[in-house]
Amino acid sequence: MHKRRVVCAAALLIVLPLLIEAQTLPVDISFTVAMPRPHTHLLEVDVAVKRTANGPQQEQLIMPVWTPGSYLVREFARHVQDFAATDAAGQPLKWEKTNKDTWRITTNGAREWHARYRVYANELSVRTSELNSGHAFWNNANILMYLDGFLQSPSTVHVLAPDVWKVATGLPAVLGQKNTFRAENFDILYDSPFEVSNFKTLIFNVKGVAHRIVIDGEGNYDPERMRRDVQKIVETEVEIMGEIPYHDYTFILHLRGGGGLEHLNSTALGYPRFAFRISSGDRATSSAPNTTESFERDYRGFLSLVAHEFFHLWNVKRIRPDALGPFDYTQENYTKMLWVAEGITDYYADVALRRAGLVSENEFLSAQARAMQAMQDTPGRLVQSVEESSFDSWIKYYRQDENSVNSQVSYYEKGALLGLLLDLEIRQRSAGAKSLDDVMRYLYAEYFKKNRNYGPVDFQKACELMAGGSLEEFFNRYVRGKEELDYNTALAAAGLRLEITPAGATGRASDRIFFGADLTQAGDRLMVERVYAGSPAYEQGLNFGDQIVAIDNVRVTRDFFNARLAEKKPGDLINLTIFRFDDLSTLLIKLGPGREGTFRIAPLTTQTEVQKKIYRDWLRAA
Ligand SMILES: [Zn+2]
Repeated sequence: MHKRRVVCAAALLIVLPLLIEAQTLPVDISFTVAMPRPHTHLLEVDVAVKRTANGPQQEQLIMPVWTPGSYLVREFARHVQDFAATDAAGQPLKWEKTNKDTWRITTNGAREWHARYRVYANELSVRTSELNSGHAFWNNANILMYLDGFLQSPSTVHVLAPDVWKVATGLPAVLGQKNTFRAENFDILYDSPFEVSNFKTLIFNVKGVAHRIVIDGEGNYDPERMRRDVQKIVETEVEIMGEIPYHDYTFILHLRGGGGLEHLNSTALGYPRFAFRISSGDRATSSAPNTTESFERDYRGFLSLVAHEFFHLWNVKRIRPDALGPFDYTQENYTKMLWVAEGITDYYADVALRRAGLVSENEFLSAQARAMQAMQDTPGRLVQSVEESSFDSWIKYYRQDENSVNSQVSYYEKGALLGLLLDLEIRQRSAGAKSLDDVMRYLYAEYFKKNRNYGPVDFQKACELMAGGSLEEFFNRYVRGKEELDYNTALAAAGLRLEITPAGATGRASDRIFFGADLTQAGDRLMVERVYAGSPAYEQGLNFGDQIVAIDNVRVTRDFFNARLAEKKPGDLINLTIFRFDDLSTLLIKLGPGREGTFRIAPLTTQTEVQKKIYRDWLRAA
């Protein structure tokens, strides 16, 4: 508690600067990251702490346990080795670890001291770090410790790299100092990954703002087409959100691994080097419904990844859920809002690709139909709400096992479907005047611009504001609750409906009969990978981990098993010989009838003018 003191104005002028200096101890933190022997995978970090006055007797350096955007405690301190601390003269300082991620250094009040350590970096993913003879990529939260109590402090990062390597990061460069970059605080520092290599660069401008794609590796992409299409995505999403809130933007693309991680003015992407093939040129204009090809592993999948990560610069990086920024780097940061942060971002990735003309209306609708079918094939949708899924991401979504399909719903998948449902609900209630776009722009103006985070109540209110009425029932049923999603009510707003072809109509065994387990061939062994709750396999005793030796007394492979199953009809019995651990036994399973056919979104036979208008506005249709 502070007591007010009455002091004269003249005294204040003198006393205040002294007080500020004594209390906040402005500190200069500069990191140097070196990589003298890249093949050892060891990044060498020097952190220099300097003050204009004496510091405290002891100080603590802390390594984050997680990196924002990837909701799992990863214990980055486990890769630290060779820690040492010295004063300005190079004399060793005493230090000790006080817990898994904290180093306490006895500085004896030194105005300047250093800590040096190495970090083993040999895992390429968007959330980890890798150094080898080909390149260096790192997330700062993996390798740079913060000074306890100084997360708000600015810092600089100086990179010492082999001469032939360039440095790319979203951080602004310090003028006149080679390969030196400045972060205003540690949230920004930890939000700015580095790529250091002989990368290729594609550049483009949107509304006068510089964008670059930095590519490490070789692959079968067409650089000109990639540049053009990524620019289209940027333009389309900027149009949705109405504003570019950064000075420049960097896409870091590795042609290895997969996935993406969003940052303030950059993103890290991984995509397999030969997955940029463009499947049949006319797909964009194809009228064939329900193409079974997914967007996952072709050029469209890459564009979808770009559209997702780029939209995050608004949704999650600036439109921030309650617990997500400023961050606590020492433990889990819980929020119920990942279904908005991730799921609605996923929905907008689909919307942006469609509005940018990079996928056709039919492809967009087919993707939505497939997502609906996948949701209905997930028993966990009736077990976990999307808010629970968000909250428990740290222990469930990021740590999946064989039971996950039965006990969890993905906040990505259900969140994206909720985005679709909310968008159409708002458009329907407002007769096409408002949409989810207005909700996102409202959140940006009311929360980011006013430096506030939003919570569950705020998000619902924003949706209600645009819908012009209560959405309490919607949120009770589908967000806080676990009720089946009502696709048809939503789709009707745009003159559409969900059609499900009868089970078995395709003639495929997987449609006609229901077994209910995923099998995998591991060498010469056929293993049960997953058993779906409520299925014949589940109810009649098949287990995850069982090895199926024979079906109807004949030795099996997966292909043979599937071929035998294809000859069966509902009600038939199959006799499985299995090893469970080391014990041989038999299991009789009665096959069930196929549950559902293929999902397809089709136009209603008659559509009102309002429905037609909503459809046109929504999908930018002609
Ligand atoms: Zn995401």
